[in-house]
Amino acid sequence: MPELPEVEVVRAGLARWVVGREISAVSVRHPRAIRRFLGGSTQFEAALTGRRILAAHRRGKYLWLPLSDGQVLLGHLGMSGQLLVEVPSSPKGLHLRVLIAFADQGRDLRFVDQRTFGGLWLDAASPGPDQLPVSLAHIARDPLDPGFDEKLFISRLRRRRTEIKRALLDQTLISGVGNIYADEALWRVRLHGARPTDRLTRTQAAGLVVAIREVMMQALAEGGTSFDSLYVNVNGDSGHFARSLNAYGRVDMPCHRCGAPMRREAFMNRSSFSCPACQPRPRSRRGPFKTAATVRRPELYTP
Ligand SMILES: [Zn+2]
Repeated sequence: MPELPEVEVVRAGLARWVVGREISAVSVRHPRAIRRFLGGSTQFEAALTGRRILAAHRRGKYLWLPLSDGQVLLGHLGMSGQLLVEVPSSPKGLHLRVLIAFADQGRDLRFVDQRTFGGLWLDAASPGPDQLPVSLAHIARDPLDPGFDEKLFISRLRRRRTEIKRALLDQTLISGVGNIYADEALWRVRLHGARPTDRLTRTQAAGLVVAIREVMMQALAEGGTSFDSLYVNVNGDSGHFARSLNAYGRVDMPCHRCGAPMRREAFMNRSSFSCPACQPRPRSRRGPFKTAATVRRPELYTP
């Protein structure tokens, strides 16, 4: 599943390859890919044709492209989505969902999605320099966003009465921290994900922000995590961050810090990975963490 650093790699690819170009034709190959658009395929194609793409922005895992008519084209990669920039003559592939061609007849933009949890849709832009889509107003900024307010995040986190990991996955508090990065950041600061947020010290919370940022920066530098071989960036190159993971996916493997075998626990229908020695489970509260072996289930994409 693409996480924030991968989505940022895709945004940078879009900024390089499609910004400034005029859309000449759109072909929706599967209606599910535009299910969040309130019209049909024909309307979607007509709404985009003839528009120029002005910029490429991201908030959390959402991407948006402001268009010359004041609307924005929004995208979410879901679990297996890819935005590929390809020469028009290259093979289209089985999972092509939306094809966008340009007036300059250069590389086209393809939304490819095997499982179709992702999609493209249109929205109105809110006023402001980023032309944030109206439907994204509730999504918090992510820690790589220059506008991220660290003090505000720390005070909001410590006022919550929940477990840390649940708070990190809450897009209205902080965006872009998925399951993998939450586990990696918690391992770095030696905190178990079930620790109550209202008992974190300000120093612990600040350390957590630093750790999240470090994990994301590292993933970004390495081109994103390609855990799920389905993910490739906008040019079709796989990322390599999976090699540097310290927690995620390492059940029974030795902790990179103390050598203890790493554990896996079930949490919110997903697996959480941590070190039993470095990250002891809190005793006082019973959270949703369970030690039972978990079956890997798809993470549902809920917009
Ligand atoms: Zn350890």
